[in-house]
Amino acid sequence: MAFDIEMIKGVYTTMGERVNKAREIVGKPLTLSEKILYSHLWDGTPNKAFQRGKDYVDFAPDRIACQDATAQMALLQFMQAGKSKVAVPTTVHCDHLIQAKDGAAADLKNANSVSSEVFNFLESVSNKYGIGFWKPGAGIIHQVVLENYAFPGGMMIGTDSHTVNAGGLGMVAIGVGGADAVDVMAGMAWELKFPKLIGVKLTGKLSGWTAPKDVILKVAEILTVKGGTGAIVEYFGPGAISMSCTGKGTICNMGAEIGATTSTFGYDESMERYLRATERADVADAANKVKEHLTADAEVYANPEQYFDQVIEINLSELGPLLNGPFTPDLSTTVGKAMTEKAKANDWPIKVEWGLIGSCTNSSYEDLSRASSIAQQAIDKGLKMKAELGINPGSEQVRYTAERDGILGIFENLDAKIFTNACGPCIGQWARYSDPKNAPKNSIVHSFNRNFAKRADGNPNTHAFVASPEITAAIAIAGRLDFNPLTDKLINENGEEVMFDEPTGWELPPKGFAVDDNGYLAPEADGSHVQVSVKDDSERLQLLTPFEPIGDSITGAKLLIKAFGKCTTDHISMAGPWLRFRGHLDNIANNTLIGAVNAFNKKTNFVKNQLTGDYGGVPDVQREYKKAGIKTIVVGDHNYGEGSSREHAAMQPRHLGVAAVIVKSFARIHETNLKKQGMLGLTFANEADYDLIQEDDTFNFLDLNAFAPGKQLTLEVVHTNGTKDTIKLNHTYNDAQIAWYNEGSALNLIKKQNA
Ligand code: SF4
Repeated sequence: MAFDIEMIKGVYTTMGERVNKAREIVGKPLTLSEKILYSHLWDGTPNKAFQRGKDYVDFAPDRIACQDATAQMALLQFMQAGKSKVAVPTTVHCDHLIQAKDGAAADLKNANSVSSEVFNFLESVSNKYGIGFWKPGAGIIHQVVLENYAFPGGMMIGTDSHTVNAGGLGMVAIGVGGADAVDVMAGMAWELKFPKLIGVKLTGKLSGWTAPKDVILKVAEILTVKGGTGAIVEYFGPGAISMSCTGKGTICNMGAEIGATTSTFGYDESMERYLRATERADVADAANKVKEHLTADAEVYANPEQYFDQVIEINLSELGPLLNGPFTPDLSTTVGKAMTEKAKANDWPIKVEWGLIGSCTNSSYEDLSRASSIAQQAIDKGLKMKAELGINPGSEQVRYTAERDGILGIFENLDAKIFTNACGPCIGQWARYSDPKNAPKNSIVHSFNRNFAKRADGNPNTHAFVASPEITAAIAIAGRLDFNPLTDKLINENGEEVMFDEPTGWELPPKGFAVDDNGYLAPEADGSHVQVSVKDDSERLQLLTPFEPIGDSITGAKLLIKAFGKCTTDHISMAGPWLRFRGHLDNIANNTLIGAVNAFNKKTNFVKNQLTGDYGGVPDVQREYKKAGIKTIVVGDHNYGEGSSREHAAMQPRHLGVAAVIVKSFARIHETNLKKQGMLGLTFANEADYDLIQEDDTFNFLDLNAFAPGKQLTLEVVHTNGTKDTIKLNHTYNDAQIAWYNEGSALNLIKKQNA
């Protein structure tokens, strides 16, 4: 059994009491999001009301999911914690490291050869520490989670931003960095700023060509890519209830594209149907007993303006199919004529080269069946594909069932490529070009979630548009971006004019789901004997060595770089080709800060080595300081470390010997990551002091031995002309975080406590 029914029953047992207490404390009816949040407090029963968007709160998530790219460093860190097992149910999913090229069989074989070392490592660590392991080809993390683990009213975290997909089954599911996941695996609390709440009331009913995807494309148009930041989006209303569970998953999935913390729906019959169809009748039975806690209080949905920070209303009966893009998921265009005009005005190629159906967003049985109904019509009406078509089923269970029911055969009759049950083109794992940087301008349409430049195929000239699977299929068959299947005719092989009928499909497979080998490997009950092997000469994996404490004396430190302007986690630790080194700290450290702009020459990866006077790349210069036993500091501007929550952006400088990062202000998660890795993350008490820092400066911390919560630190800045400035630095370390610093890292402290 993949899921843990006893854990779920445990959540439901305490939920009623906690929700009732929360309602009493908050003093008003509760939204679903609040019910889930207040019933997952680390301290148990609520005893105070939290301010939305202000208070940081410790939570106790029910489960964790990790994908193969992020799991490597997360598990390498967990191995440092000195625990014999993960503290909460955890799964690892191998889906990102499989390139789409020749079709599923050949591509999977190739991935198993190219990344065997990484897969074997993840499998053995999972087996050792009680983690469920989903093999390459088993499916895309979020579809597999929805099919096997998500449950109404639960809370989960995952080391992937589209973890939010599980909101389709009524969860609060949130994407986090590996360091956060490691904390929870090790039995610690997980901190989150209590989110704001956006209510989306769905009235009317989807029909014809309109799909759940169009709902979220519309929400993205309304809220834009930033509009959901710091908020949970809660969907409700008759339109919500009328939609399938996987359709709800699609909507929640793309909540990541509007920056939302997560999105969710109240428990309803579509969820019950989905739970029973995926062999979780006992979860449905348990949920039915606590139904009233798995949706908002009736008063909330009756008068949403009083309970949400923002309310949006969408009438599904009036919604039409949308095409969002290119380069951003919030740029909406109604299919058809509006696109003709927009494409002409913006010089977007009208001819469509590829249609891609899949990704964690739209790869359910329902998605494939509706798209296949369009493909079948093309065959029946004598139409030939004008573009190429690629399909990534969401899971082996979906693929096997779709194959059994003839759905995949329909696509194959149109010469579509059936790729592996994996991310593939959605994460740039698509061997479309030999030289993507110099590839031609073109348009593609896909049912994925993200469409920024280079995302799918590495070609900056690819204009990617996002649509529902059925619209993607129709546009790929027509080969035109501005094709409107509701009104436009196509000419078939016999020269006749034909039109598509509306798509049809099944919410769930009429003959039930089936699968031969779902790709799941359960861990051994006692994994203590399992050996985790990492080759000494591996370029992709490296066991971690605990960081030495930096200590309470930092003198004679040199400036590594004074970063100018925006410095995101991508500037600190780039993605792209560096992805392959995510499990090898020393190798990936060779990209440390190579994207940051040096304030003194406005160049990237070009800093002065104070030991030689020469200029060089940031990692190379830093390695010279490390060799000489000299500590360094990094100086930055506002919101330093914004972007992803990846812990590599803190671990890499730490590994290379940077002792402190001093900035005007931090992105909060990066600041916490620095603290977790036992570094100093400090801010200028007087922002203007940033301007005092010169290229050849030397730094002495004058009172680090008195490091204490709420007490400023003093830094002496020695300039080459012999003059000195003494500046004050603020910090937000509490006692526990100072203990992390003193021990060298949060993990060192956990290990010590275990011992
Ligand atoms: Fe991320 Fe795309 Fe994979 Fe989904 S399918 S997990 S969005 S890479």
